Amino acid sequence: MDRDKVMARSRAQLTLLRVRPGAVVHVRLLPVGPAWFTTHWVGKRQVLCAGDSDVGCPACGLVPPRVVGFVLVLVTVRAEVDRQQLFLLEISPHSWAGFEMGCQFEGIQPGQIVWCELHRRSQRSPLKIEPCKVSDVALGATFEDRTLMNAVAVLYGLPLMGATEELESWKSRVAPVVSSLGSRAVQEVGA
Ligand SMILES: [Zn+2]
Repeated sequence: MDRDKVMARSRAQLTLLRVRPGAVVHVRLLPVGPAWFTTHWVGKRQVLCAGDSDVGCPACGLVPPRVVGFVLVLVTVRAEVDRQQLFLLEISPHSWAGFEMGCQFEGIQPGQIVWCELHRRSQRSPLKIEPCKVSDVALGATFEDRTLMNAVAVLYGLPLMGATEELESWKSRVAPVVSSLGSRAVQEVGA
C-alpha cells in the first residue's frame, strides 16, 4: 500500500466508542447515518455478509446473520479545553428504535445534532441511547455519509470510498473484497 493510501486510511479511521456497563457516556449524536450492515460472527471475528453480491457469502448458512448499524458521535475528551473527538458508535436496530421513540417523546425532529446519554446494564445487554436535548452549538466542521462509510471501511478492512464515488458503486466495487475476507475468516476457524 503506498504512503498516500496509508495516510488516507489513518485519517478515515475512527475509534469505536466503548460503553462500559454501569457507566453513562454523554455524546452528541450527529445526523449522519445510521449505516446498516449484515454481519456474521465467524470465530472471534465480525465479518460483513456478502449475500447481496454476485460473488456470494461464504459465511451465510454457517453462522446466523446479525444486523449492525453505525453512527457518528462527538465526545468531549478534555472538558477543560473543550476538546471534542469523533467516534464511531455501533448500534443495534433495537437500540436505534429506542432512540427514535425517545426523540418522538421529547419532540426532537430528525436531522439535528442531539445530546444523548448512552448506557448499558451489562456487557451483553443492549445499548440504550437516550436523547436529552438538541445541541444548540454549531459545529465547526460538517460530517457526511462518506466520513461514516469510510470509518466503517477501515474497521472492516475495505477500500475507502473515492472522493466523488457514489455509495452504490462503492458497494459493488468492494463486494469481492467482502467475500474474500469472509472466506478467509471461515477458513481460519476450519468451518
Ligand atoms: Zn452472509
